[in-house]
Amino acid sequence: MTEVLPNFRLMEPATVEEAVALLNETPDALLCAGGTDLVVQLRKGLAETGTLVSLSGIAALREIEVTDAGLRIGAGVTLSQIERAQVIVDGYRAVAKAARSVAGPAHRGVATLGGNLCLDTRCVYYNQSHWWRKSNDFCLKYRGDTCHVAPQGNRCRAAFSGDMAPSLMVHGAEIEIAGPKGTRRLPLAEFYHEDGAAHIRLEHGEILVAAHLPPPGAASEYEKVRVRGSIDFPLAGVAVACARTPEGAARFSVAVTGTNSKPLMVDVPGDLPPHSAPEAFFAALEKAVQKAVSPQRTTTIAPHYRRLSISALTVRLAKRLT
Ligand SMILES: Cc1cc2nc3c(=O)[nH]c(=O)nc-3n(C[C@H](O)[C@H](O)[C@H](O)COP(=O)(O)OP(=O)(O)OC[C@H]3O[C@@H](n4cnc5c(N)ncnc54)[C@H](O)[C@@H]3O)c2cc1C
Ligand code: SF4
Repeated sequence: MTEVLPNFRLMEPATVEEAVALLNETPDALLCAGGTDLVVQLRKGLAETGTLVSLSGIAALREIEVTDAGLRIGAGVTLSQIERAQVIVDGYRAVAKAARSVAGPAHRGVATLGGNLCLDTRCVYYNQSHWWRKSNDFCLKYRGDTCHVAPQGNRCRAAFSGDMAPSLMVHGAEIEIAGPKGTRRLPLAEFYHEDGAAHIRLEHGEILVAAHLPPPGAASEYEKVRVRGSIDFPLAGVAVACARTPEGAARFSVAVTGTNSKPLMVDVPGDLPPHSAPEAFFAALEKAVQKAVSPQRTTTIAPHYRRLSISALTVRLAKRLT
């Protein structure tokens, strides 16, 4: 099989309601936002459809709004807009930094927030050409019956490698989803499953329409480990936010990506009280991150290295914010 883009019908709704209706009329339809990941997947035969429903004509998805409850970022807002929006740079620094760390500038000009949050999971045995996967009897995630990463297991361990999710999670983001039964909201952290073959809680016919952030209240940072510094997915990425309690203690939120099939919040070992010696706290934080993550052989980089580097990065960011 050559890697030529297969034929498909392109539907261009002007409203979210039209897009939901189109999805519900067409069982195999796929949503396309910037297309930076989906089109590659179609070429490799990792996604199959006769109909693409493009979201790029829906103006309502492309707005960043300051509201009484905080900030609403439409799912169609591009990563370039996010990295430059002053309200995000000033109040939610990790979010702007995560956006700036995705791929290259031309790519970020079309890649959207919604596409990033709904990104498929990745694995060295999966993100390959069709003939390569076929010659390896495919795998559990697609047409096969064995996982090459964890052959004894019964679920896909492919890693979620979107940069945006942890940066929004440490700021307490919720997402808004539109579907045939109306709209619903849920905490972003609850949107994901630990299963690389079914990692997001989105029914067919539903569209992610926006992320909501509470008013800014914490300083935050985002960094990631990657092979190529100029353009690459995170092998491990971490967002840390730090707020002050009324007593003056530092309260941290930590979320990671790239290590598991879902981005996850880390259970942080309490607050760091003022005037205390911080080294024991940071040692406990490092251990908590190592315990929370479970990187697998889904990339060419050793899981142990990813585990150690993500915990070291977390402590570095926490110290910087303190
Ligand atoms: C060379 C290269 C480098 C990359 N580097 C990075 C990187 O460093 N970090 C990173 O995070 N990603 C990276 N990516 C992946 C991808 O480009 C980005 O994650 C991007 O943000 C995806 O957004 P998009 O709008 O292009 O999504 P699309 O490709 O249009 O869609 C991605 C998926 O999301 C679904 N989707 C899109 N919008 C919605 C919506 N509103 N509601 C429900 N489902 C939706 C689509 O159906 C599809 O399954 C890279 C990709 C390439 C090709
Ligand atoms: S983790 Fe296993 S099942 Fe999942 S994509 Fe990789 S090889 Fe396939």
